[in-house]
Amino acid sequence: MISSIQKFFFCLFLYLMLAASCKPHKEQLLIKIGGETQGTYYAITYYSQDSSDLQPAIDSLLNRFDSTASTYKPNSIISRMNNNDPNVKADAMFETIFRKAIDVSEKTDGAFDITVGSLVYAWGFGLSNRLKMNQHSVDSLLPLVGYEKVKLEKGKLVKTDPRIRIDYNAIAQGYAVDVIGAFLDSKQIESYLIDIGGEVLARGEKPDDEKWSVAIEKPTQNADDDRSIQAVVLLEDMAISTSGSYRKFYEENGIRYSHTIDPANGYPVKHSTLSVSVLAKDCMTADAFATAFMVMGVENGKIFLEKHKNLEVYFIYTSPDNTIMTYYTKGFEKLLKKV
Ligand code: ADP
Ligand code: MG
Repeated sequence: MISSIQKFFFCLFLYLMLAASCKPHKEQLLIKIGGETQGTYYAITYYSQDSSDLQPAIDSLLNRFDSTASTYKPNSIISRMNNNDPNVKADAMFETIFRKAIDVSEKTDGAFDITVGSLVYAWGFGLSNRLKMNQHSVDSLLPLVGYEKVKLEKGKLVKTDPRIRIDYNAIAQGYAVDVIGAFLDSKQIESYLIDIGGEVLARGEKPDDEKWSVAIEKPTQNADDDRSIQAVVLLEDMAISTSGSYRKFYEENGIRYSHTIDPANGYPVKHSTLSVSVLAKDCMTADAFATAFMVMGVENGKIFLEKHKNLEVYFIYTSPDNTIMTYYTKGFEKLLKKV
């Protein structure tokens, strides 16, 4: 004798079976979007059942981003703050980057420091031509460096010296990736890879249950040499950022000047580290720490990692006899694709 409760479950089971078989199986489309932003490329790959064109919305987000954080745009919020425009106020993006920047400065004892702006310009990595740099000029600019010399109060940037310039270039790309990620999340897209100039965020898995694979480039001798792969990382819900000394630099009298400035001495970093890749849950954190590790270099980086076990890092550096070496944390190793 079948009880009514059994009948109910049987009917429910039939209904669910029917509903599942009638549901049209819509295929996940692979969609790719790309373009230029922040002086570099962006490439977005995602899977969705909806083929609507998201590029216009993404481009407008990136433009809005530039009008906040780009030091290359004279009218951006950051440029106006640097020029002490009394009428400029921080927006939400500006503020989010500022808070993270100060947080990473505090954690890295100032290896990461957005107040390197004047030095970045003087060394020729900003909009202006580089100055003739010597110990005297470095000494005159060093007092303008120090994250504790700037504060954000009710949307106004308060500086201890009006000549202080802030620079978001070591963190803004990472945050732009997070902003695009939040936009795709809002569109219910659950599987994507966003790459802005080497700052990458991977969400979910691909429809075949594969993780997203991201390559770490082998550093090259010359900035324009062909790219080849050093290692591949398999990612799901994780960001990776790589900072390097081998692409953006110039040479003068046989000396290489990289675009990463050591805030402690005011000089471009000179040590043997060629690139650093950092994993984090969000790309802004990964970006800021990658720059900080570029400043620290592999030796100080290892000491720092002893005390900060939550960070996963992959260093590429040269040994004294010029061979390419790597050092990576255990957590990073777990995500490396076996070859
Ligand atoms: P990349 O990923 O291209 O190597 P980074 O994310 O490391 O670049 O950012 C480098 C840029 O950040 C420089 O061009 C400069 O504008 C700025 N910068 C340089 N040194 C520092 C530093 N110590 N802290 C914060 N920003 C820096
Ligand atoms: Mg960075």
